[in-house]
Amino acid sequence: MYSSASQLPFNGESFEGRFVPAAATAAPPDPEGRWFFIQDQSIFLLEDRDGIGRIPLGGIPAAFEGQVESIVHFGSYLDTPCWAASVRAGFAVPAGYVCERLAPGQIQLSDDLLSLCGLAQQATFWEATSRHCPRCGEATVTIKGERGKRCLRCKNDHYPHLHPAVIVLIKDGERVLLTRKSFWAKGRYGLVAGFVDIGESLEAAVQREIREEVGVEVTDIRYVASQYWPFPSQLMIGFVATYDGGELRVDQTELEDARWFSLRELPDLPGKHSIARFILDHYARPEGAGGA
Ligand SMILES: [Zn+2]
Repeated sequence: MYSSASQLPFNGESFEGRFVPAAATAAPPDPEGRWFFIQDQSIFLLEDRDGIGRIPLGGIPAAFEGQVESIVHFGSYLDTPCWAASVRAGFAVPAGYVCERLAPGQIQLSDDLLSLCGLAQQATFWEATSRHCPRCGEATVTIKGERGKRCLRCKNDHYPHLHPAVIVLIKDGERVLLTRKSFWAKGRYGLVAGFVDIGESLEAAVQREIREEVGVEVTDIRYVASQYWPFPSQLMIGFVATYDGGELRVDQTELEDARWFSLRELPDLPGKHSIARFILDHYARPEGAGGA
């Protein structure tokens, strides 16, 4: 269990200074360092290595030369430049590598490496989606020393789009209301979550998502923690709320199931890398079991 949300993977503080993002470091003249080869939401890792050693080091490995669509310097890890490279579709896994889907909770990586892979994935996503101006369609160029892109025709500047989403634990004394999506691992339950809408406060988003997904009302909405989630660019803002009436009514379009669980008989929960689990670990513990 993480004792503080600052330890959660993908939150910049979790690196404790080991990683410095690109906005604060100039790109080196030559692409040399650690190579994060991304294909959609998968990463190529060296076989039979451990930790950061699974990420190739040096110049671009020969097997990938001519196979990448973009290369982005996204920061430095332990003073070594980090490069995110988007590998073209259909490229087969070269000898000595494995290709693994970046699914936190399934992929087995150290926290630092998981966070770095997430940032690399986000960097390639932003690169792939910012080549043209969303206003006029003209090509863009990187704004020097920044993450942003500038349109060559209308001179509009564009920056990575971050998407705030609320995630909330609903409590009622010694029970909690958990939800389940059909594509989750069998028997797994988690929290109500959803994107913040235009013109909406976080508290209003919490109330709306809960109403939509499970039909109940809540009060005493308290912010507890947040987690950056680079798949591709969510900011998860975590809350705990107290049940305040209404009949449980499951939104069948979004959820497979939702039900009340006793704190003493919780089901299978989301993986420890997620803020959902962090909130459950800290705020869904029975009386006398300690915790926040
Ligand atoms: Zn433009």
